[in-house]
Amino acid sequence: MIRSVTGAVTRGTTSQVGRRAVGAAWAVMTGCVGLAGCADSSDPPADLVLTGGRVITLDAQRRVAEAVAVRGERVTAVGTVDEIEALTGPETRRVDLDGRAVTPGLMDAHVHFASGGANRLYRLDMSYPNVENIADVQAMVAEQAGLVGEGEWVRGGGWDEGKLAEVRYIYASDLDVVDEGRPVWLMHTMGHYGTANSVALEMAGITAETPDPPGGTIDRDDAGRPTGVLKESAMGLVTRLIPRLGPDQQREGIRALADAFNAECMTGAKDPGIVQATWDAYADVLADGDLSVRVFVLWSQLDATIEEVRDYAERLATFTRPYESTGDDRLIAGGVKLYIDGSGGARTAWLYDDWNREFTGTDTGNRGYATMDPDELRRRFRAYHDAGLHVSIHSIGDRAIDWTVESFQEAVAATPTKGLRHGIIHSNIPTDHALDAMAELQREWQAGYPEPSPTFTWWIGDTYAGNFGPERALRLNPFRSYRERGIIWASGSDFFVTPFPARYGVWASVARRPLLGVYGETPYGTEQSVDAETALRSFTIWAAHQMFLEDKVGTIETGKYADLAVWDRDPLTVPTDELRDMVCEMTVFNGEVVFEREKQDHGDEDSAASRDHIRIMPQGLMPNRAGTRPGW
Ligand SMILES: [Zn+2]
Repeated sequence: MIRSVTGAVTRGTTSQVGRRAVGAAWAVMTGCVGLAGCADSSDPPADLVLTGGRVITLDAQRRVAEAVAVRGERVTAVGTVDEIEALTGPETRRVDLDGRAVTPGLMDAHVHFASGGANRLYRLDMSYPNVENIADVQAMVAEQAGLVGEGEWVRGGGWDEGKLAEVRYIYASDLDVVDEGRPVWLMHTMGHYGTANSVALEMAGITAETPDPPGGTIDRDDAGRPTGVLKESAMGLVTRLIPRLGPDQQREGIRALADAFNAECMTGAKDPGIVQATWDAYADVLADGDLSVRVFVLWSQLDATIEEVRDYAERLATFTRPYESTGDDRLIAGGVKLYIDGSGGARTAWLYDDWNREFTGTDTGNRGYATMDPDELRRRFRAYHDAGLHVSIHSIGDRAIDWTVESFQEAVAATPTKGLRHGIIHSNIPTDHALDAMAELQREWQAGYPEPSPTFTWWIGDTYAGNFGPERALRLNPFRSYRERGIIWASGSDFFVTPFPARYGVWASVARRPLLGVYGETPYGTEQSVDAETALRSFTIWAAHQMFLEDKVGTIETGKYADLAVWDRDPLTVPTDELRDMVCEMTVFNGEVVFEREKQDHGDEDSAASRDHIRIMPQGLMPNRAGTRPGW
């Protein structure tokens, strides 16, 4: 199982060493190491120049230049129009920016890229506004049930009770009247619960007598009968019966989502919790030349005895060492994902105080739970840390986040390894204690980096506000507090949980407004907002940091890979609400133009670009007609 992973990494390392040598020779030859200029007539001309705009480098000096030059896969100069023009030759492709903005390609630090990519193609999309009420759900299930064969599954996903007119879960009884005897599984958008119909419950042997499995909940009605809603580990009782997607479907999902990322000016992804088959699918797509994003993966955890976990960690660590090598910088074996708690949607995340319901109500006695015995999970984390592996831990609730930062502190005290960059996935409502711990861990150990999803306050922001309640909502995603303590964070979409275009996350980091406003327009306040430049950093250089690529991408600087985004407007100057409507006009990945939007005046309904534009609509959204949607 491990051999093919090792092989891929080894091959990548070799080619990287080769490239480094070439780069060094070139730097010596031209003496060109600074930000600007480098107009030496002995240089080969640039392959591509972008001139006459605002090149937002996001470098340490926060420089904004006029133009940028690319040769091969690298940025070779950043400077004035004149400086960059001097680097062109007859073969150079010139792009006149005409005042438009260029940023580094945006990177998604937490995205279920492979599984989300496949689900996007092979599962009913029940996200808003495809589905606005239970009747919409029933219509989609009825149609699909009529299309699939006897015994085949109807699979759907993306629903969210916070966006349904009824503001309640979908129940088995809703599905039983339309399912034509087919088993049905409809995953919630957050992936921590879903609804099975009665056929599926029966196949799984779930009855009123079935006890809740460890770390899971079988939702029940007042009479104790299962409602069809299964949370956390209880989902596995049904989902293990659903046939997995095959390798062809996995590859197609990756390929299509890479294209869709490029069409949103995105060039990087950190995919948490993958298995060998997923890696193989990525490697195949890369070998075919179709992996037009940099992918950094976290391996799934092993549910086994501590001895077996230690063995697993040792084996992973032989080829998962991003601090030594990120290989070809295209597909990187990065670390391990663990999770200590559940979801803010299912109210299973681990809190100190009771969950709310409907914003001001209380879910009395429910403080969520740890996914497993916290001491045992801490021993497992230590096994990975001690083996020298980078680990990111899913931690939503305040109690869960405290547990995670304390686990990091204990680990570095016992085995003082600096630079593993352990991450805190989501980090929704950290306590002051946790914030202080993160600041110290980052400063002293290069560990304790939040990997949050700014779009949680938007896309699932109505459900979330209802569950977290008025006080906790104000300190959810506390980006301002991070800044004040010098904490950096790496933002992600958590796609399929929220739509993947990073511009939504940039906007949400500033605006903090829920999609519909079920509990008011501003349940999250704006005390914890940051400006657009800071938000962009969290999707570029800081995201790159959590992929161990900050020296290679994430800013626009000479010598870095040319991963560039051209936007129709300047994110640093537009009004906040225009951030989410920014249109990606061109994407350069590794020096190559991988996406180009056709000009409006040459628009043609049948053109490849406009077809692609339709295909990339996230979860049925119309990204560039957002104004027609309620609450946008
Ligand atoms: Zn996730």
